[in-house]
Amino acid sequence: MSNKFDVIVIGAGPGGYVAAIRAAQLGLKTACVEKWSNASGKQVLGGTCLNVGCIPSKALLESSHKFEEARHDFKEHGIEVDDLEINVKKMMERKDAIVGNLTGGVGMLFKANGVTSIHGTAKIVAGKQVEVTDTKDKVSTYEADNIIIATGSKPVEIPPAPITEGYIVDSTGALEFDEVPKRVGVIGAGVIGLELGSVWARLGSEVTVIEAQDTFLSLVDQQIAKESLKQFKKQGLDIKLKAMVTGTEIKRGLVNVSYKDAKGNQELKVDKLIVGVGRVPVTEGLLSADSGINLDERGFIFVDDACQTDVPGIYAIGDVVRGPMLAHKASEEGIMVAERIAGHKPQVNYDCIPGVIYTHPELAWVGQNEEQLKADGIDYNIGIAPFSASGRAMAANSTAGMVKILADAKTDRVLGVHIVGQHASELIAQAVIAMEFGSSAEDLGLTMFAHPTLSESMHEAALAVNGNAIHVANRKRRKK
Ligand code: FAD
Ligand code: NAD
Repeated sequence: MSNKFDVIVIGAGPGGYVAAIRAAQLGLKTACVEKWSNASGKQVLGGTCLNVGCIPSKALLESSHKFEEARHDFKEHGIEVDDLEINVKKMMERKDAIVGNLTGGVGMLFKANGVTSIHGTAKIVAGKQVEVTDTKDKVSTYEADNIIIATGSKPVEIPPAPITEGYIVDSTGALEFDEVPKRVGVIGAGVIGLELGSVWARLGSEVTVIEAQDTFLSLVDQQIAKESLKQFKKQGLDIKLKAMVTGTEIKRGLVNVSYKDAKGNQELKVDKLIVGVGRVPVTEGLLSADSGINLDERGFIFVDDACQTDVPGIYAIGDVVRGPMLAHKASEEGIMVAERIAGHKPQVNYDCIPGVIYTHPELAWVGQNEEQLKADGIDYNIGIAPFSASGRAMAANSTAGMVKILADAKTDRVLGVHIVGQHASELIAQAVIAMEFGSSAEDLGLTMFAHPTLSESMHEAALAVNGNAIHVANRKRRKK
């Protein structure tokens, strides 16, 4: 094998593997270096997302949601289920099979597209050279005209709660419990805390979430966040805001958690403690001192809008650069960079990245929220369609939540869409398309939606923006 490539991608997560495939499709001689090994030392592709992130967490969210429905909601439909039990081993085997399928699929896609897969840890040295240390510590040097860094992120660790096998775990450990813990503590009411906290709460654990901030989901539209908090509390999640963990101690098979809130020092005893306080970019050992690549003040690789680093021809994408840590954002950046290397001029639209929290109800959004519009001094109109007015939501016994559309008061252009409710993750795609096409609320209102669907709530919210809703209250408000 020649050691010279047009493109070398470092990391085979959703950023790196997608970039490598796209580059190869465009006729570029492409290699992808990935260090991840399984227990038998074989290379594993797919990164955080496929192995320990998006996919396994969604598999467990689906399983646990079905269990919770069977426990609580079936009765409403007249379905009686006695002696319901959860077989955690089987649930985990199902999750692992899905992960195996998808990660194996990446290998097949590499073969089909002619991407050379290299197993080892990469380091960039000056002159666009990549040194790869394999699992037997053998170093090989490769050269490329272009390098794409896609080394992703890893969980933040905090001194008062060090990861301790079997007791204090990060998100990866929380995907692997072999039985339902009686009590689970979660540090951080962010995306990971809420999703993984929900999994174990639905299966029967008493879950307490300790969050440092006094605002719940501060980056989410606050009307949507408040509605979701109401629902999570109803489901039994005990969410403590403005609470800081000060220490932990493992004693008699339990984790004793000390924390401080508005009332003073508190204690909590749990069987498992999940730490979900954010993630940081992975760059250790990646760059030689003379690589010329710089990091920003938070440790992310510094890139421009086209994901180019300070060295022409070296790019960085995904979790290792600024912006939301999301698989779809990583993949779109990967495609943009591969296509730019091939001479095209695409641009990721950073104003149109959907965000989703896969709880029940789900939260999903795109564009600006009310708090951001107010801060920017933009006049806007609001249309809200609560799911309590939707026939389909009633049929599904899931009427919590709403679709909220924010549109520019002068132009009627949709500036943001925020949803809390069942299938919000699927509904938001229509809003992303509308915003990509520069739609006005009126355009959405003039579009026909099938009946009875949850999507009709998007239609009603769009009509409500301009005072034309049929089934819900017309809300129109201008910021002044
Ligand atoms: P990664 O997926 O982290 O991949 C980086 C790869 O680079 C890894 O395989 C790593 O081994 C490899 N690597 C690192 N350094 C080197 C080196 N020096 N040499 C060789 N290889 C190297 N996002 C969503 O959009 N939706 C979700 O539902 C979602 N759920 C999540 C749930 C959990 C529990 C977690 C933890 C994350 C979740 N995310 C979700 C976030 C998502 O996983 C990340 O945004 C995404 O994986 C980032 O992709 P990436 O390619 O940038 O990095
Ligand atoms: P996050 O930033 O979403 O939430 C972390 C939370 O922990 C914040 O609310 C923060 O205030 C709190 N916190 C920080 N330090 C604390 C402390 N010492 N004590 C108590 N609370 C503390 O981070 P995350 O949930 O760890 O997720 C990491 C990344 O992974 C996110 O950026 C997210 O984009 C990505 N992710 C996405 C999905 C999804 O798209 N559905 C799912 C999981 C993870």
